[in-house]
Amino acid sequence: MEIKEPSDINLEDILTSYWVIKNNMVNEKGDILDYSDRLFLIDILNDTTPEIVIKKCAQVGASVTFNLKCAFACEKGRFNVIYTMPSDDDVSEFVKTKADKLFQANPRISEYFSSDTVGLKQIADRFIYYKGTKSKTAAISTTADLLLHDELDRSDFRTIETYQSRTSTSKYKGTWKFSNPSLIGVGVDVGWEKSDKKEWFVECPKCKHSQFLVWENNVDEINEKYVCKKCNGELTSDCIRNGKWKKTSDGLISGYHISQMMAPWLTPHDLLKSKEENGEEYFRNFVLGEPYASGDEANLRRAIFDSWTSKPLEVKPLFMGIDIGRIKHFVVGSANGVFKIGTCESKEELESVIEQYDPQVVVIDAGPETTWAEEIKNKYIGKVYLCRYRRDKNRGDLLLWGGDKGTREDIKDYGIVWADRTRIIDRVVNEMIRGNILYGLRKEDLEKYIKHWESMRKIIERDASGMARYIWQSTNGVDHYCHATIYYYIAKLRMGAPVEFMQESADKKEVIQVTKEGFKMAPIENMIDQREDKDNLL
Ligand SMILES: [Zn+2]
Repeated sequence: MEIKEPSDINLEDILTSYWVIKNNMVNEKGDILDYSDRLFLIDILNDTTPEIVIKKCAQVGASVTFNLKCAFACEKGRFNVIYTMPSDDDVSEFVKTKADKLFQANPRISEYFSSDTVGLKQIADRFIYYKGTKSKTAAISTTADLLLHDELDRSDFRTIETYQSRTSTSKYKGTWKFSNPSLIGVGVDVGWEKSDKKEWFVECPKCKHSQFLVWENNVDEINEKYVCKKCNGELTSDCIRNGKWKKTSDGLISGYHISQMMAPWLTPHDLLKSKEENGEEYFRNFVLGEPYASGDEANLRRAIFDSWTSKPLEVKPLFMGIDIGRIKHFVVGSANGVFKIGTCESKEELESVIEQYDPQVVVIDAGPETTWAEEIKNKYIGKVYLCRYRRDKNRGDLLLWGGDKGTREDIKDYGIVWADRTRIIDRVVNEMIRGNILYGLRKEDLEKYIKHWESMRKIIERDASGMARYIWQSTNGVDHYCHATIYYYIAKLRMGAPVEFMQESADKKEVIQVTKEGFKMAPIENMIDQREDKDNLL
């Protein structure tokens, strides 16, 4: 590919790709950047649209490309940039292992690059401010020309919103967002929907039909090859390599969708293997670069509205869930659904609510006021259970009820239930979407209740080893009725449990548990210690 350079324009000043290639730029490991397998990144490098959204898969060299694009914007565009990542830890790791190394490895950049702190880099006379969105310190208050939001879907959306005002004095007012998608209607998918939705079109060598690759249309899973959706002829890695971006919509934002199907060095076999090893959610988000719809989380408002009923739901037995904080939020319902929600502050108030409804089972969260919850549990032993969320194991029982094994060792855990956090929330959300939880709430309560659920997002989190998992998170921390509902649901599940009950001994020092194997004694104080082995802390 030969680019002609008109005498009055220096292409190096206007085309990022030209600047990268002409200066023999390298990645953070020092390898020359060769875009011959990644032609799809060239247009992205050169795109100067102020609003860009990229929903992408993992591991196609996109982050190096975006950082070079950022450095070019500083030097040539003379932009100040605010670059956000989900957390300060992400920033620290990313800057040390990627950005610093990339900028220092390239003489063309390192000559005017200086790095005083992890979060602040100078390129020529301009700055890049790196900052986590979930941070203990205040958001960056400086103005900027360009906001660059990396890993948007794992970021705190409230913080992202506060940054929007930072570009108000800039002529360019740029916002570039890129992320692995998570769920439909969340994060990068929101911007994508408003964009021109560029897809990588490849031409079938046989019938000449131009198409972009869709897993369901273009993969012959048996013969492990890409095929034309029209004539079923094979689409070779060469024709995929030489694709072209084409708009599929009229949106004003410049949008790109990058999938691993576009990577000529990966075969359908590699992708199928990843699907098998990592599961469907991971496959859609990180391999296909598509949001995943495990239910219809984005539409909980409608689901709750549709499940509203005027029929009386207060039919015994009743169940109750309580979320403990400074304010205690409770949800009361029957087997069919929820008819009462409310809040109270003191322990006495809460006890009077419990006594008023006399639920068969009450589930309370174990923290943060542990002692307080323990006292209620011990007062209503056999009725009140403390719930501890634990990290999902994704196999085995969703819930572990302490004491159910009936062994002496196990008895001291009676009254505690451990729940796999993501799985139990998934389960309740699914029940809500299917209309299996009815709501007999007053209009004003219903609105408050919906607000809490609307703040819930299912996002991807990676641990230090890079393992990805889904977790539910509230965008604003106001999710108390959600957890109270989860506890109400757990209380309902208790109904089918093995028959057993507990009763205090005469001196109130021990409790007696009656199980199929007979009577067991357990000292009360043993119930109050911490049991981290079972908690498998989040
Ligand atoms: Zn064809």
